[in-house]
Order: sequence, then structure tokens, then C-alpha cells
Amino acid sequence: MSPSGAEVIRKIREQVEEVDPAEVSEHLGNGVVLVDVRESEEWDRGHIPGAVHVPRGYLESRVDAAVGDRNKRVILYCASGQRSALAAHTLKELLGYPNVASMTGGITLWKDRGYKVEVPKTLTTEQKERYSRHLLLPEVGTEGQAKLLDAKVLLLGAGGLGAPTALYLAAAGVGKLGIVDDDDVDLTNLQRQVIHTTGRIGTPKVDSAEATIAALNPDVEVVKYPVRLDASNIMEIIDGYDVIVDGVDNFPTRYLLNDATVRLGIPVVSASILGFDGQLAVFKPHDGPCYRCLYPVPPPAELAPSCGANGVLGVLPGTMGMLQATEVIKLVTGIGEPLVGRLLLYEALGATFTELKVRRDPQCPICSRDPSEIADEEMGVFPDYEAFCAAAG
Ligand SMILES: [Zn+2]
Repeated sequence: MSPSGAEVIRKIREQVEEVDPAEVSEHLGNGVVLVDVRESEEWDRGHIPGAVHVPRGYLESRVDAAVGDRNKRVILYCASGQRSALAAHTLKELLGYPNVASMTGGITLWKDRGYKVEVPKTLTTEQKERYSRHLLLPEVGTEGQAKLLDAKVLLLGAGGLGAPTALYLAAAGVGKLGIVDDDDVDLTNLQRQVIHTTGRIGTPKVDSAEATIAALNPDVEVVKYPVRLDASNIMEIIDGYDVIVDGVDNFPTRYLLNDATVRLGIPVVSASILGFDGQLAVFKPHDGPCYRCLYPVPPPAELAPSCGANGVLGVLPGTMGMLQATEVIKLVTGIGEPLVGRLLLYEALGATFTELKVRRDPQCPICSRDPSEIADEEMGVFPDYEAFCAAAG
């Protein structure tokens, strides 16, 4: 006679290592991956903080991406400890995970013991549909989309780089987009600044960008700064943003931005373009080099012309802006390897990408200092960058 279902479950549970919620609580964060194998509705009602969600029905197809390194210790849980025991058995016996356990009593016992439960932000029915292609990616999912909706990203410029970056970040559902730009839309902009239209020539770029974003995605709040960024206003404008997208075309502002963001600990996704060439880097304060580690002194003026006077292939800022938007989404959701400590060079005519390693300069006048040592009176006090850059020639 075949064994009953209950008997099979009992036998499987005998073969699976079971751990107590106390042990899980103690080891959370110490290289242990905690996997919730319940259904999406159960996860949405509350889960253990720091857990990743892989419903049991998707275990085989999604667990590798969620866990990352299968040699890590993996602890599974469900509502009562039964589904997680079966899932642990599958991971061990069928998928060959070496170090798997199931949490006794599931999240029910966890809650009874008084441990913390996190109730995730849920998406509306419309949002679930709008962002469905994100939700289908296990690396993004509802959690990643919720992070994007909560994110505050500041774009410096609604020009060549800022225009495509803003469009895609808005489409991706970044909840708050700040835009700093004091220019009006001009006919010569439209060859590349795709967020603006012919009908809006002569209107402020921040208004034009806001109109396009509002039509694209009502989830996005646009905060307009129709000003020029300078030493007197930068700290006030950038404070509170999670990531800054730098598309400025002059060196004094680049140095000012670097020094202010290092002090406030805000990562900057920086790109520049000229002719057929683009550059991209992520400056994450104290995690990698800053802009000054890369360029201790500004290049001579003749080597650093802006696009105002020089040509640029119209699609090039689109390419570089997309790469910027990609890095922003990675930083916000915490997925992938951001371009920290690396400089990516793109040459459009040869269709080549080149990557250069960039190291932190231990003597860097800005990022070698411990931010906690910078006195309040010194915060927001910056050198004269116009003079600094002019001295370079
Ligand atoms: Zn530095």
C-alpha cells in the first residue's frame, strides 16, 4: 500500500534540519539567507524583515537568483513549518544546496515569540499592471518596485543627458524626481533632448519636463528647481535625495557637486558626452573613489569644451542617459554591481566600450576625511571653483 500524504511529510521532516526561531533571529544578517516560501498574499500581510520571497511553486526556477551563492546557509520558513520543510527537502535533494534548514513553527511561532514582522508596501491594482514587467523579474519584484516608488532622485539638468534619464526613471516609477535647470527649451535642443517638444520652445525646461512626465506616469511627483546650482544653494537642494544624476556640462559645478555629495553621503551617477564619446561612473561616497580622486585638477579649458559650442551626435546622450538610469535603478533597488570604482568609456563610431579601474586617493582633499569630523560651520563652505578651474588654463 502506498504511504499516506501525512506519512510522506513526516518522513521528509525527519530528514530536514529544523531550527528554532531564536536561532534564526540570532543569525539574521550574518551571511544567512532567509527565504519565505509562502504565497504572495501571505507575504504581503507581513514577513520577517530581511527575508527574500520565493513562493514554493516557483522554488526551482527562482531560488538561485534570490539566494545568489548556493553555498550560503539557507533557512526557509512558511506559516507553520510544513511547506518550508518540504521546500528545504527539494533544495537539498533535488537542487543540491549543501546547507539548508527549515524554521520550526513558521512565522506563526516567530510572531508568538514576539519577534518583528514587516508589512511591505503593497501596490495598487493599476500599479501591479503598470510595473508587471518589473514584478516578473525576481531581482526587482514587488519589493524592488516599492523601493523605486519610495525613491527620491535628483536630476541636474533637463538637457541632453537629463531628458532621456528622466523619461525612463519616470516610466520605471521613481516616486520623486527633482529637476534642476534654469534654461528654456530652444530649437537646437530638440535634436537630442527628447523630453521636450517643438510646441514648448521658449518655455522653461523644468515645466516642459514636468508636463511630459505627468502625461507618462501619474505616480511620479516632480519637484522643480528653476535655478543654477551654486555654492549658496546646493546643500539645501540636494539634501534628502537618495541618488543624484549628474549631467552638468561644466567643471566648477562638477567639483562643487562632488564636494557637497561626499559630505552628505549621497551617491552620484555621473556621465559626460562630447562628439561621439561618452563617459560614465558612479561616485558612491567612501565606498569608492570620488570625482576628485579621478580628476584631482580640472583639465585645461581647450580639452574640456561644452556641448554648447561643439557638436554631439543626437543619440549619444540617449545611450549615456540610459546607462545612468540603469545605474540609478540598481542603486535604489540594491541589485547588481554598480559602476563604483570603474570608469566606463563609450565610443560610438567604433561601437566600443572600455572599462578603466579607478582607485580612491588616500590623499584626496575631500573623501579622505571622515565626514563626522567636518564641523557644521564647514559644511556648505566650498572653495572658489571658478578660480580653481580657471587656474588650470
Ligand atoms: Zn576623493
